[in-house]
Amino acid sequence: MDTKKNLLDLTLDDLREFIRSLGEPAYRADQVFQWLWQKGCRDFAEMTNISKAFREKLAEASFIGWPDIEKTAVSSDGTVKFLLRYADGELVETVLIPEEGHTTQCLSSQVGCPMACTFCSTGQMGLTRNMTMGEILGQVLVAREYIAAHEDDVAPLRNIVFMGMGDPLLNVTEMVRALTTMTHDKGLGFSSRRITVSSVGILKGLEVLGDCGLAQLAISLHAPTQELREQLMPKAARQLPLDQLMAVLDRYPLKPRERVTYEYILLRGVNDRPEHARQLVKLLGGRKAKVNLIAYNPSPGAPYKAPHPDDILAFEKILWAKGLTAILRKSKGQDIAAACGQLKAKHISES
Ligand code: SF4
Repeated sequence: MDTKKNLLDLTLDDLREFIRSLGEPAYRADQVFQWLWQKGCRDFAEMTNISKAFREKLAEASFIGWPDIEKTAVSSDGTVKFLLRYADGELVETVLIPEEGHTTQCLSSQVGCPMACTFCSTGQMGLTRNMTMGEILGQVLVAREYIAAHEDDVAPLRNIVFMGMGDPLLNVTEMVRALTTMTHDKGLGFSSRRITVSSVGILKGLEVLGDCGLAQLAISLHAPTQELREQLMPKAARQLPLDQLMAVLDRYPLKPRERVTYEYILLRGVNDRPEHARQLVKLLGGRKAKVNLIAYNPSPGAPYKAPHPDDILAFEKILWAKGLTAILRKSKGQDIAAACGQLKAKHISES
Protein backbone atom coordinates (compact mmCIF):
# COMPACT_ATOMS: atom_id res chain seq x y z
CA MET A 1 0.00 0.00 0.00
CA ASP A 2 1.22 3.50 -0.84
CA THR A 3 1.83 5.28 2.46
CA LYS A 4 3.11 8.48 0.90
CA LYS A 5 1.32 11.63 1.99
CA ASN A 6 -0.33 13.99 -0.48
CA LEU A 7 1.20 17.33 0.56
CA LEU A 8 -1.95 19.11 -0.63
CA ASP A 9 -3.84 17.48 2.23
CA LEU A 10 -1.68 19.22 4.85
CA THR A 11 -2.33 22.62 6.41
CA LEU A 12 0.78 24.66 7.17
CA ASP A 13 0.78 23.36 10.77
CA ASP A 14 0.48 19.75 9.52
CA LEU A 15 3.28 20.35 7.04
CA ARG A 16 5.59 21.74 9.74
CA GLU A 17 4.99 18.63 11.82
CA PHE A 18 5.57 16.36 8.82
CA ILE A 19 8.80 18.09 7.89
CA ARG A 20 10.05 17.91 11.46
CA SER A 21 9.32 14.17 11.36
CA LEU A 22 11.70 13.97 8.37
CA GLY A 23 14.45 15.49 10.54
CA GLU A 24 14.36 18.94 8.90
CA PRO A 25 13.74 22.33 10.56
CA ALA A 26 10.09 23.38 10.58
CA TYR A 27 10.75 26.66 8.70
CA ARG A 28 11.36 24.56 5.58
CA ALA A 29 7.60 23.87 5.64
CA ASP A 30 6.86 27.51 4.89
CA GLN A 31 9.00 27.35 1.75
CA VAL A 32 7.39 24.11 0.58
CA PHE A 33 3.89 25.47 1.36
CA GLN A 34 4.53 28.54 -0.79
CA TRP A 35 5.75 26.36 -3.65
CA LEU A 36 2.60 24.25 -3.44
CA TRP A 37 -0.01 26.98 -3.16
CA GLN A 38 1.44 30.23 -4.42
CA LYS A 39 3.45 28.86 -7.34
CA GLY A 40 1.28 25.82 -8.09
CA CYS A 41 4.37 23.60 -8.15
CA ARG A 42 3.73 19.89 -8.86
CA ASP A 43 7.32 18.70 -9.12
CA PHE A 44 9.81 18.67 -6.25
CA ALA A 45 12.65 19.32 -8.74
CA GLU A 46 11.23 22.84 -9.31
CA MET A 47 11.64 23.81 -5.63
CA THR A 48 14.95 25.49 -6.32
CA ASN A 49 15.48 27.19 -2.95
CA ILE A 50 15.46 23.78 -1.24
CA SER A 51 18.48 21.49 -1.17
CA LYS A 52 18.54 18.50 -3.51
CA ALA A 53 18.98 16.10 -0.58
CA PHE A 54 15.83 17.45 1.14
CA ARG A 55 13.85 17.37 -2.11
CA GLU A 56 14.77 13.70 -2.51
CA LYS A 57 13.74 13.00 1.06
CA LEU A 58 10.39 14.73 0.43
CA ALA A 59 9.80 12.78 -2.77
CA GLU A 60 10.41 9.50 -0.95
CA ALA A 61 7.83 10.27 1.74
CA SER A 62 5.23 12.33 -0.12
CA PHE A 63 3.74 13.40 -3.42
CA ILE A 64 1.85 16.38 -4.85
CA GLY A 65 -1.50 14.99 -6.02
CA TRP A 66 -3.47 17.24 -8.36
CA PRO A 67 -6.71 15.99 -9.92
CA ASP A 68 -6.68 15.10 -13.63
CA ILE A 69 -8.90 17.02 -16.03
CA GLU A 70 -11.30 14.48 -17.52
CA LYS A 71 -13.24 17.02 -19.58
CA THR A 72 -13.31 20.79 -20.17
CA ALA A 73 -16.43 22.46 -21.57
CA VAL A 74 -16.40 26.13 -22.60
CA SER A 75 -19.73 27.89 -23.00
CA SER A 76 -20.48 30.57 -25.59
CA ASP A 77 -20.93 33.00 -22.64
CA GLY A 78 -17.40 32.26 -21.34
CA THR A 79 -18.38 29.87 -18.52
CA VAL A 80 -15.83 27.06 -18.23
CA LYS A 81 -16.68 23.77 -16.61
CA PHE A 82 -14.17 21.11 -15.62
CA LEU A 83 -14.92 17.51 -14.86
CA LEU A 84 -12.05 16.37 -12.62
CA ARG A 85 -10.91 12.85 -11.85
CA TYR A 86 -9.33 12.01 -8.50
CA ALA A 87 -6.88 9.23 -7.57
CA ASP A 88 -9.66 6.73 -6.79
CA GLY A 89 -11.36 7.44 -10.13
CA GLU A 90 -14.17 9.57 -8.69
CA LEU A 91 -15.43 12.51 -10.75
CA VAL A 92 -16.23 15.99 -9.49
CA GLU A 93 -17.26 19.22 -11.20
CA THR A 94 -16.05 22.78 -10.83
CA VAL A 95 -17.12 25.84 -12.82
CA LEU A 96 -15.48 29.17 -13.69
CA ILE A 97 -18.07 31.92 -14.01
CA PRO A 98 -17.09 35.12 -15.83
CA GLU A 99 -18.12 38.31 -14.00
CA GLU A 100 -17.38 42.01 -14.51
CA GLY A 101 -13.55 42.17 -14.49
CA HIS A 102 -13.01 38.95 -12.56
CA THR A 103 -13.84 35.27 -12.42
CA THR A 104 -15.78 33.42 -9.72
CA GLN A 105 -15.10 29.73 -9.18
CA CYS A 106 -17.79 27.37 -7.94
CA LEU A 107 -16.28 24.51 -5.96
CA SER A 108 -17.52 21.05 -4.97
CA SER A 109 -17.02 19.73 -1.46
CA GLN A 110 -18.36 16.16 -1.69
CA VAL A 111 -18.44 13.44 -4.35
CA GLY A 112 -22.22 13.40 -4.86
CA CYS A 113 -24.54 14.56 -2.07
CA PRO A 114 -26.82 12.78 0.41
CA MET A 115 -29.44 15.55 0.65
CA ALA A 116 -31.49 14.56 -2.44
CA CYS A 117 -33.01 18.01 -3.08
CA THR A 118 -35.63 17.36 -5.74
CA PHE A 119 -34.43 20.03 -8.23
CA CYS A 120 -30.73 19.09 -8.18
CA SER A 121 -28.87 16.66 -10.48
CA THR A 122 -26.19 15.98 -7.84
CA GLY A 123 -28.88 15.18 -5.29
CA GLN A 124 -30.10 12.33 -7.48
CA MET A 125 -26.64 10.66 -7.41
CA GLY A 126 -26.47 10.14 -3.65
CA LEU A 127 -23.28 10.54 -1.65
CA THR A 128 -20.14 8.61 -2.59
CA ARG A 129 -17.73 10.24 -0.14
CA ASN A 130 -16.43 13.48 1.32
CA MET A 131 -13.57 15.31 -0.38
CA THR A 132 -10.30 15.99 1.43
CA MET A 133 -8.78 19.45 1.81
CA GLY A 134 -6.31 18.71 -1.00
CA GLU A 135 -9.08 17.51 -3.29
CA ILE A 136 -11.20 20.59 -2.56
CA LEU A 137 -8.30 22.97 -3.20
CA GLY A 138 -7.02 20.95 -6.17
CA GLN A 139 -9.99 22.45 -8.04
CA VAL A 140 -8.53 25.94 -7.50
CA LEU A 141 -5.04 24.86 -8.57
CA VAL A 142 -6.41 23.46 -11.83
CA ALA A 143 -8.45 26.63 -12.43
CA ARG A 144 -5.52 28.95 -11.73
CA GLU A 145 -3.31 27.04 -14.16
CA TYR A 146 -6.05 27.17 -16.81
CA ILE A 147 -6.57 30.92 -16.30
CA ALA A 148 -2.81 31.58 -16.53
CA ALA A 149 -2.78 29.78 -19.89
CA HIS A 150 -5.89 31.66 -21.14
CA GLU A 151 -5.32 35.09 -19.62
CA ASP A 152 -6.51 36.89 -22.75
CA ASP A 153 -9.92 35.23 -22.45
CA VAL A 154 -10.43 34.59 -18.74
CA ALA A 155 -10.28 37.30 -16.06
CA PRO A 156 -8.33 36.74 -12.81
CA LEU A 157 -9.87 34.48 -10.18
CA ARG A 158 -11.15 36.60 -7.32
CA ASN A 159 -14.23 35.00 -5.76
CA ILE A 160 -14.90 31.48 -4.55
CA VAL A 161 -18.32 30.01 -3.91
CA PHE A 162 -18.95 26.55 -2.46
CA MET A 163 -22.09 25.85 -4.44
CA GLY A 164 -20.97 22.83 -6.45
CA MET A 165 -21.52 19.18 -5.64
CA GLY A 166 -22.31 18.36 -2.02
CA ASP A 167 -23.16 20.38 1.06
CA PRO A 168 -19.92 21.85 2.45
CA LEU A 169 -21.21 21.85 6.02
CA LEU A 170 -21.67 18.07 5.90
CA ASN A 171 -17.89 17.95 5.37
CA VAL A 172 -17.07 20.74 7.77
CA THR A 173 -13.75 19.45 9.18
CA GLU A 174 -12.07 19.29 5.77
CA MET A 175 -13.85 22.49 4.76
CA VAL A 176 -12.35 24.47 7.63
CA ARG A 177 -8.90 23.06 6.82
CA ALA A 178 -9.43 24.07 3.18
CA LEU A 179 -10.57 27.57 4.21
CA THR A 180 -7.50 27.93 6.45
CA THR A 181 -5.14 27.23 3.54
CA MET A 182 -7.27 29.21 1.12
CA THR A 183 -7.08 32.38 3.25
CA HIS A 184 -3.49 31.93 4.51
CA ASP A 185 -1.10 34.59 3.19
CA LYS A 186 1.43 31.85 2.42
CA GLY A 187 -1.33 29.69 0.95
CA LEU A 188 -3.83 30.68 -1.75
CA GLY A 189 -4.23 34.13 -0.18
CA PHE A 190 -7.96 34.72 -0.75
CA SER A 191 -9.80 37.26 1.38
CA SER A 192 -12.48 35.60 3.52
CA ARG A 193 -14.87 38.30 2.25
CA ARG A 194 -14.48 36.78 -1.22
CA ILE A 195 -15.35 33.22 -0.18
CA THR A 196 -18.95 32.10 0.23
CA VAL A 197 -19.99 28.79 1.73
CA SER A 198 -23.49 27.74 0.72
CA SER A 199 -25.42 25.16 2.73
CA VAL A 200 -28.98 23.93 3.18
CA GLY A 201 -28.36 24.57 6.89
CA ILE A 202 -26.59 21.92 8.97
CA LEU A 203 -26.70 22.66 12.69
CA LYS A 204 -23.22 21.53 13.74
CA GLY A 205 -21.60 22.84 10.55
CA LEU A 206 -23.12 26.30 11.04
CA GLU A 207 -21.61 26.51 14.51
CA VAL A 208 -18.16 25.49 13.28
CA LEU A 209 -18.22 27.82 10.27
CA GLY A 210 -19.44 30.74 12.39
CA ASP A 211 -16.66 30.16 14.93
CA CYS A 212 -13.90 30.04 12.30
CA GLY A 213 -15.10 33.23 10.55
CA LEU A 214 -13.21 32.34 7.36
CA ALA A 215 -16.08 32.72 4.87
CA GLN A 216 -19.40 34.38 4.16
CA LEU A 217 -22.54 32.32 4.65
CA ALA A 218 -25.23 31.55 2.09
CA ILE A 219 -28.27 29.41 2.86
CA SER A 220 -30.01 27.35 0.20
CA LEU A 221 -33.53 28.31 1.20
CA HIS A 222 -35.59 27.82 -1.99
CA ALA A 223 -38.93 27.95 -0.18
CA PRO A 224 -40.49 30.50 2.19
CA THR A 225 -42.44 27.97 4.30
CA GLN A 226 -41.64 24.68 6.02
CA GLU A 227 -44.36 22.92 4.05
CA LEU A 228 -42.99 23.91 0.65
CA ARG A 229 -39.40 23.37 1.74
CA GLU A 230 -40.29 19.81 2.80
CA GLN A 231 -41.65 19.26 -0.67
CA LEU A 232 -38.58 20.63 -2.49
CA MET A 233 -35.78 19.55 -0.15
CA PRO A 234 -37.29 16.99 2.22
CA LYS A 235 -34.14 15.82 3.97
CA ALA A 236 -32.81 19.29 4.70
CA ALA A 237 -36.20 20.58 5.81
CA ARG A 238 -36.86 17.68 8.17
CA GLN A 239 -33.35 17.67 9.66
CA LEU A 240 -33.54 21.33 10.61
CA PRO A 241 -37.07 22.75 10.31
CA LEU A 242 -37.35 26.30 9.02
CA ASP A 243 -38.24 27.97 12.37
CA GLN A 244 -35.24 26.29 14.03
CA LEU A 245 -32.96 27.15 11.09
CA MET A 246 -33.96 30.83 11.34
CA ALA A 247 -33.38 30.81 15.11
CA VAL A 248 -29.87 29.39 14.56
CA LEU A 249 -29.18 31.99 11.87
CA ASP A 250 -30.32 34.80 14.16
CA ARG A 251 -27.47 33.78 16.49
CA TYR A 252 -24.92 33.36 13.68
CA PRO A 253 -21.90 35.64 14.28
CA LEU A 254 -21.95 38.22 11.49
CA LYS A 255 -19.33 40.96 11.24
CA PRO A 256 -20.55 44.58 10.91
CA ARG A 257 -22.21 45.12 7.53
CA GLU A 258 -22.28 41.36 6.80
CA ARG A 259 -25.54 39.70 5.84
CA VAL A 260 -26.61 36.12 5.25
CA THR A 261 -27.35 35.43 1.59
CA TYR A 262 -30.43 33.33 0.92
CA GLU A 263 -30.40 31.35 -2.33
CA TYR A 264 -33.80 30.94 -3.94
CA ILE A 265 -34.12 28.91 -7.13
CA LEU A 266 -37.28 29.87 -8.99
CA LEU A 267 -39.29 26.89 -10.25
CA ARG A 268 -42.20 27.63 -12.54
CA GLY A 269 -45.55 27.47 -10.78
CA VAL A 270 -44.00 25.86 -7.68
CA ASN A 271 -42.34 28.63 -5.66
CA ASP A 272 -42.37 31.62 -8.05
CA ARG A 273 -45.87 32.99 -7.40
CA PRO A 274 -46.46 36.46 -5.86
CA GLU A 275 -47.71 34.83 -2.65
CA HIS A 276 -44.36 33.06 -2.29
CA ALA A 277 -42.56 36.38 -2.67
CA ARG A 278 -44.75 37.88 0.04
CA GLN A 279 -44.10 34.90 2.33
CA LEU A 280 -40.37 35.35 1.71
CA VAL A 281 -40.60 39.02 2.71
CA LYS A 282 -42.40 37.98 5.90
CA LEU A 283 -39.71 35.39 6.69
CA LEU A 284 -36.66 37.55 6.00
CA GLY A 285 -37.94 41.09 6.68
CA GLY A 286 -36.07 42.64 9.62
CA ARG A 287 -33.23 40.13 9.35
CA LYS A 288 -29.71 40.83 8.05
CA ALA A 289 -30.50 39.17 4.75
CA LYS A 290 -30.12 39.47 1.01
CA VAL A 291 -31.66 37.18 -1.57
CA ASN A 292 -30.06 35.63 -4.63
CA LEU A 293 -32.75 34.66 -7.09
CA ILE A 294 -31.72 31.96 -9.54
CA ALA A 295 -33.82 31.00 -12.53
CA TYR A 296 -34.02 27.20 -12.66
CA ASN A 297 -32.06 25.66 -15.53
CA PRO A 298 -33.80 22.34 -16.28
CA SER A 299 -31.74 19.25 -17.04
CA PRO A 300 -33.12 16.40 -19.18
CA GLY A 301 -35.87 14.53 -17.36
CA ALA A 302 -36.12 17.16 -14.59
CA PRO A 303 -39.46 17.42 -12.80
CA TYR A 304 -39.55 21.25 -12.89
CA LYS A 305 -39.69 23.96 -15.55
CA ALA A 306 -37.74 27.21 -15.89
CA PRO A 307 -39.68 30.22 -14.57
CA HIS A 308 -41.29 32.65 -16.98
CA PRO A 309 -39.24 35.89 -17.33
CA ASP A 310 -42.28 38.03 -16.37
CA ASP A 311 -42.78 36.00 -13.19
CA ILE A 312 -39.13 36.42 -12.26
CA LEU A 313 -39.41 40.20 -12.58
CA ALA A 314 -42.69 40.31 -10.64
CA PHE A 315 -41.14 38.21 -7.84
CA GLU A 316 -38.08 40.44 -7.64
CA LYS A 317 -40.23 43.58 -7.62
CA ILE A 318 -42.22 42.40 -4.60
CA LEU A 319 -39.01 41.81 -2.63
CA TRP A 320 -37.55 45.21 -3.52
CA ALA A 321 -40.85 46.99 -2.80
CA LYS A 322 -40.70 45.63 0.75
CA GLY A 323 -37.06 46.67 1.22
CA LEU A 324 -35.51 43.22 0.79
CA THR A 325 -32.31 43.28 -1.30
CA ALA A 326 -32.64 40.79 -4.13
CA ILE A 327 -30.21 40.06 -6.94
CA LEU A 328 -31.16 38.04 -9.97
CA ARG A 329 -28.35 35.67 -10.89
CA LYS A 330 -28.18 35.12 -14.61
CA SER A 331 -28.09 31.46 -15.49
CA LYS A 332 -24.77 30.90 -17.24
CA GLY A 333 -23.34 28.06 -19.28
CA GLN A 334 -26.73 26.63 -20.30
CA ASP A 335 -25.17 25.08 -23.42
CA ILE A 336 -22.62 23.11 -21.36
CA ALA A 337 -24.89 21.69 -18.63
CA ALA A 338 -23.42 24.08 -16.07
CA ALA A 339 -25.86 23.54 -13.20
CA CYS A 340 -24.42 21.50 -10.37
CA GLY A 341 -24.13 17.80 -11.22
CA GLN A 342 -25.35 18.09 -14.81
CA LEU A 343 -22.02 17.58 -16.58
CA LYS A 344 -21.14 14.52 -14.51
CA ALA A 345 -24.60 13.02 -15.10
CA LYS A 346 -24.23 13.67 -18.84
CA HIS A 347 -20.69 12.21 -18.92
CA ILE A 348 -21.80 9.04 -17.14
CA SER A 349 -24.82 8.54 -19.40
CA GLU A 350 -22.66 8.98 -22.53
CA SER A 351 -19.82 6.67 -21.47
S1 SF4 B 1 -28.86 21.35 -3.83
FE1 SF4 B 1 -26.92 21.11 -2.69
S2 SF4 B 1 -27.57 20.06 -0.80
FE2 SF4 B 1 -29.26 19.81 -2.25
S3 SF4 B 1 -28.84 17.82 -3.25
FE3 SF4 B 1 -27.91 19.43 -4.53
S4 SF4 B 1 -25.78 19.54 -3.85
FE4 SF4 B 1 -26.94 18.48 -2.25
